[in-house]
Amino acid sequence: MLRVDGLSAWYGEAQALREASLRVDEGEIVTLVGRNGAGKTTLLRCLMGLHGTYGRTSGTITLDGEDITALPAHLRARRGLGYVPDDRGIYATLSVEENLLLAPLVKGSAKVKRGGPRPWPLDRIYETFPHLKERRRAPGTTLSGGEQQMLVLARVLRTGARLLLCDEPTEGLSPLFVQRIGEILREVRAAGTTVLLVEQNVHFAASVADRHYLLAEGRIVEALDRDQVREREHQLLEYLGI
Ligand code: ATP
Repeated sequence: MLRVDGLSAWYGEAQALREASLRVDEGEIVTLVGRNGAGKTTLLRCLMGLHGTYGRTSGTITLDGEDITALPAHLRARRGLGYVPDDRGIYATLSVEENLLLAPLVKGSAKVKRGGPRPWPLDRIYETFPHLKERRRAPGTTLSGGEQQMLVLARVLRTGARLLLCDEPTEGLSPLFVQRIGEILREVRAAGTTVLLVEQNVHFAASVADRHYLLAEGRIVEALDRDQVREREHQLLEYLGI
C-alpha cells in the first residue's frame, strides 16, 4: 500500500532522515520505534507532505503504486492518508462534538479505491469512544490527555482515512487508556484501515503490531517481525533508554 524509498529530510543544513526505506501493506499495523530525536516525527510528517515548511526532502513515496512525493498534504489526505499528530491539534474553543463534526471526508476523490474503510458516523464513534459521548459538549481542551488522544483518533476515523499515521498516541497516558488505544487500533484494523504508528512503548508496540522498524539517527537500522520484537523486548527497552 505504502512504499518509501531512500527518504531523506533536512532542517536547514541538519539532516534528520537518511535514506529511509520501508513498506506498509494493506491491513497491517506497523510501528516505527526509536529514541528521542531518531527522526520518527520527521518521517511521519514527510509521509503526510508536511515537512516542506521545515526544510527539503529527497526520496520517493508511493501510495497504491502512485508516486505521491510531489503531492501537497491535502491531496494526500484525499487519497486516504490520515495524520494523528503528537501535539494533538484539537480546536480549543470548540466542543468535542464540534471537533468531530469538522473532520473533512476523504470521499470524493476518484483515486480512492472502492471497498476501503468508510467514514465513521457519529453514533459509531460514540459507541467506540463512550468517554467522548459523555463529554461531547465540553470544550476540547478540558479533556484529560487520554480523552484528547481519543478525540484525535476519533476525528481521523470520521474522515474515512485508509492509512493512519499516528505519532505516539500512548505518550503520557495511563495504562487503562493505553490498553483502550490498543483495542481501538485493532478494531480500526478489523474495519479495513491500515496503521503506521510511532511508538516508544515497546511492550505496547509488540502487543499491537505485525511488524516493526527500528529507527536510529535518521536511518532504518532493523526490520523486525512480531516474534523478534517479543524475544528482544528487554534489549530494545535498554536500547531506547527506557
Ligand atoms: P521525539 O520522540 O523526541 O519526537 P523523533 O524520533 O520524533 O523524536 P524528530 O522529532 O523527527 O525525532 O527529530 C529528528 C531530528 O530533527 C532531531 O535531531 C531534532 O532535533 C531535529 N528536529 C526536529 N524538529 C526540528 C525543527 N523544527 N527544527 C530543527 N531541527 C528539528
